[in-house]
Amino acid sequence: MFKNIIAPIQAWLISQGRCVGCGMPLSKGKVEPRKDGTQKVTCRCGRIYIHTPKLKKYRRALFEEI
Ligand SMILES: [Zn+2]
Repeated sequence: MFKNIIAPIQAWLISQGRCVGCGMPLSKGKVEPRKDGTQKVTCRCGRIYIHTPKLKKYRRALFEEI
């Protein structure tokens, strides 16, 4: 039940290009280019995201992408 309340907030944060954990703009994270043209972004809190510059979109990295 708790998760159902948190999920929309996290979805909103990530749509704003912010970390779901600490709210920091992901543009300030550590960026590493990936082979497929996307970027791996590591937040200062250790959460890892995938940025697609073409779409200007962030998403949480999958386990196998870390
Ligand atoms: Zn963070």
